[in-house]
Amino acid sequence: MTKPLLPAVDAAGQLREVAFALLLHRRRPVEVADLAAATGLRLDAATGAVATLATTGWLDLDESGRVAGAAGLSLVAGPHRLTLGDAQCRTWCAYDALGIAAALGGHALVETACGQCAAPISLAFRSGIPERSGPERLWLADGGRDLRGSFCTPTVLLCGDTHAAAWESAREGHGRSLDLAEAARHGAADWAGCATAAGRLA
Ligand SMILES: [Zn+2]
Ligand SMILES: [Zn+2]
Repeated sequence: MTKPLLPAVDAAGQLREVAFALLLHRRRPVEVADLAAATGLRLDAATGAVATLATTGWLDLDESGRVAGAAGLSLVAGPHRLTLGDAQCRTWCAYDALGIAAALGGHALVETACGQCAAPISLAFRSGIPERSGPERLWLADGGRDLRGSFCTPTVLLCGDTHAAAWESAREGHGRSLDLAEAARHGAADWAGCATAAGRLA
């Protein structure tokens, strides 16, 4: 029995953060029993919460029902590449890649492509700070009920102002465009709980 990492207040939030931390630490899929132990949840409660989170796109499960992705970080699938130290990961959207790199505060490399023209984009982080603030922009979708389809899929980097404007007009303004420094600042706040959980494991 592992000592609980966090008090279980909001089961869904705790599960996501602890799953993120365990994935990052172990770099292999996480058994639900390990999540239950690490959060202090009962196994049946953790099993139910994991199933609900997976159905709504907040966790990835592998074919054995183990957690393989959480809080945007995936060991298996995702269109954006995120290298954290020597760990190769994928992320569900471009904001996940920037936010996780910023919140963890280490050296990282984000590799993706312009959502409009598919030109490759790579962005290094030093101590959680992106090496530049532009010319690329992040489109942060407003999202809706379906996390992956309504938020992650349209949340991409654009190679510059022209393609950011084209992407925005095709989305009919359902979101906002940020420069890389703003995106990293927002992301650092949004992934702060995940980074704290990861820090407790390190
Ligand atoms: Zn995402
Ligand atoms: Zn472009």
